[in-house]
Amino acid sequence: MSGTDPTSSAAEAPGRDFIRQIVADDLASGRHREIVTRFPPEPNGYLHIGHAKSICLNFGIAAETGGRCFLRLDDTNPLKEDQSYVDSIIDSVHWLGFDWADRLTHASDYFPKIHACALQLIEAGTAYVDSLTPEQIREYRGTLKAPGRESPHRNRSVAENLDLFERMRRGEFADGQHVLRARIDMASPNINLRDPVLYRIRRAVHQRTGDTWCIYPMYDFAHTISDALEGISHSLCTLEFEDHRPLYEWLLAQLPLPAKPRQIEFSRLNLAFTVTSKRKLAELIELGHVSGWDDPRMPTIAGMRRRGYPPAALRDFVQRTGVTKKEHLIQMSLLENCVREDLNVQAPRAMAVLQPLKIVLLNYPEGQTEMLRGVNHPDRPELGEREIPFGRELWIEQDDFAENPPKKFFRLQPGGEVRLRYGYIIKCVAVIKDAAGQVTEVHCNYDPDTRSGLSGAERKVKGTIHWVSAAHAIAAQVRLYDRLFSVPRPDAGADDQDFKSFLNPGSLQLAANCQLEPALQATAPGDVLQFERLGYFVADRCEHSATRPVYNRIVTLRDSWAKLEEATQP
Ligand code: ATP
Ligand code: MG
Repeated sequence: MSGTDPTSSAAEAPGRDFIRQIVADDLASGRHREIVTRFPPEPNGYLHIGHAKSICLNFGIAAETGGRCFLRLDDTNPLKEDQSYVDSIIDSVHWLGFDWADRLTHASDYFPKIHACALQLIEAGTAYVDSLTPEQIREYRGTLKAPGRESPHRNRSVAENLDLFERMRRGEFADGQHVLRARIDMASPNINLRDPVLYRIRRAVHQRTGDTWCIYPMYDFAHTISDALEGISHSLCTLEFEDHRPLYEWLLAQLPLPAKPRQIEFSRLNLAFTVTSKRKLAELIELGHVSGWDDPRMPTIAGMRRRGYPPAALRDFVQRTGVTKKEHLIQMSLLENCVREDLNVQAPRAMAVLQPLKIVLLNYPEGQTEMLRGVNHPDRPELGEREIPFGRELWIEQDDFAENPPKKFFRLQPGGEVRLRYGYIIKCVAVIKDAAGQVTEVHCNYDPDTRSGLSGAERKVKGTIHWVSAAHAIAAQVRLYDRLFSVPRPDAGADDQDFKSFLNPGSLQLAANCQLEPALQATAPGDVLQFERLGYFVADRCEHSATRPVYNRIVTLRDSWAKLEEATQP
């Protein structure tokens, strides 16, 4: 990138998807001098990977054009919302790498102004208080094929509407007794225009406004006014809001608001092998299938953070999925490959043994230790080297030894040789078993002339395995995570089969007695590493400590699901 010519760098940057094209055109034509966007989550759960797409789009476009993006909490339903969700949303957006400066807002900041807008509509005769029951309102609304019917209260006088609405606000009525509705068109082919409800009575304590209000604005009403009050130029949302756009525009046309934002819809990000609905994610937590919103298997931003996914990998992933109006299912392997690519560059290498098997080197002096050297990163010499102690007793992976090996098994076997990474070639001379016939130890001899890096050490054997010195090893708990669901579309089962029946029973496996090389004593919570030959791991940011090390597997080195995904390409 040249960095000097803004048009060329913008063209090379995240690419010109159709929204960025509209934005660029609006700047070029002078329709807007500044681009203002917003990300408007409802604080009724944690953010997930789908939200990451919306965050990257809204904050990304603002940053690319020198504009502004608001983080707005859409807190209009006190029954479902909670301050802990607000906190988690703030945390997740920040962690993902975005900043809203002084533009953290809440729909509830605007409650007085939204209320004033309602009064304006009533005075203009375009809103009325309806006293049908919720069931009647539903029945009168009609269907996609049949028009709706007008409520008998539709022609109340302005004075009566003002009086009733004021008494709703003062708390004179029970929940559901009255609502405020827009007076648009009960015969409209678009159901959203059949006199939509604007305000309802809800005697609930709001996490920010307490009991100041007992009437709360509906989403469409609050959202449109909030957008306009913040001077949003482009209001970007997912396709399910396409049918709401006429209402959005109707409200903007009726009300004397400071801006007329343009709503543009794009398709949701749907990720295979998971679900991204807050309601379903909450169900997994309630039923104990996962430990919480930040369980490392959850597709939440908090979960992926705890899993060890780097924020740059998530941004990269979102960018690669593009912005379109077509619905499609994104393969999990795309996300995992973004994670691998980032970690391959970032993560220092180390040796760890997940399922330890004891090796005794019969010809190595008892009590002797020598220091071998290992590079911390094969492509980044600036990350330096570390010392790795070597001694008579070692741990290797149980899998790396086979008493009766299959063909082409190049690891340790009776009578066979293998190279120890950064160390020596060893040869298996005896297999020790317990009474039950289980292998408990493997006895080997080492070849002192084969130490890695020594001249004359070039003797080649086919296999190289990782290991840890038993006398110096750190014991750790390692959690091996895999996909939460075992099918690509857990929420599209035949005959409405419950999505939970597709949970992957092997999504969490505990390796309780792992052995780590001693250099890992210095690992801090959140640090990422590649355990050679095993995958990428992170020291758990909540539970890891120097005295009780706990690691999560972020992702394996290679994709073991590729075949299944190919077979199920949508
Ligand atoms: P859910 O269906 O998971 O409960 P939601 O759409 O109700 O999500 P909101 O908090 O209302 O969640 O969403 C905030 C913003 O994030 C909205 O603008 C919404 O369009 C966007 N968003 C939500 N899910 C996705 C997704 N899967 N892909 C892209 N954007 C999304
Ligand atoms: Mg929503």
